[in-house]
Amino acid sequence: MNIPDIIIAIDGYSSTGKSTLAKLIAEQYSFLYLDSGAMYRGVTLHALETGIINEEGKIDETRLKTALETLDLDFKIDGTYIGERRVEQDIRTLEVSSHVSPVSAIPFVRNFVDEKLHAFGLRKRIVMDGRDIGTTVFPDAEVKIFMTASPEVRAQRRFDEMKMKGQEPVMEEVMKNLLERDYIDSHREVSPLSRAADAYVLDNSDMTLHEETVWFQGLCQGKFGILE
Ligand code: C5P
Repeated sequence: MNIPDIIIAIDGYSSTGKSTLAKLIAEQYSFLYLDSGAMYRGVTLHALETGIINEEGKIDETRLKTALETLDLDFKIDGTYIGERRVEQDIRTLEVSSHVSPVSAIPFVRNFVDEKLHAFGLRKRIVMDGRDIGTTVFPDAEVKIFMTASPEVRAQRRFDEMKMKGQEPVMEEVMKNLLERDYIDSHREVSPLSRAADAYVLDNSDMTLHEETVWFQGLCQGKFGILE
């Protein structure tokens, strides 16, 4: 099946499998996959490592604003980079996860990330996942998907993923972090997580990845009148 040159926006709650589906779509239809959450995680990692976020979790916004003026955060072919350093693993720890939502609620942080994301949107054939891609970053995206799943299923997925990466997660902490992030992400003032009116909802609590891709294929066939 051939999909036209479009932007696909995938938003939704934490650990709903957005990136797994997005990567697979990118692979199957030769799209470029972009993980917007990695940008917010990169900013958060930098803030933690430089003491801009202190031991109590307080963010020094003045210092953060100055730091962003020179922060060289980028997507490269093999992941997220700060300068020459590949930070793909370091941005996925529970420590970063537990500070990223307050950081991403700061308006100047959102502007910093949005500018980078928009630059990628100049070329089509991208699939980007996040929280506000279909509502704010690319409101004209041709296909918008809003993903959800039960908290239990999501916590288990995140737990398994962390174990696979050699981390030692505690289920209660993983669940707490998910629910906290969902709350902050959906209640912040700027670009809160919400379903775009024209987004298709995908609840994958009881779906396999294969079923999700079949669902996506059906969606595109219907939308673009593809007959195969
Ligand atoms: O997608 P991921 O869970 O890696 O995103 C980490 C965090 O980055 C989210 O919990 C959210 O606070 C923030 N984020 C956001 N807007 C996006 C993508 C991520 O606020 N478009």
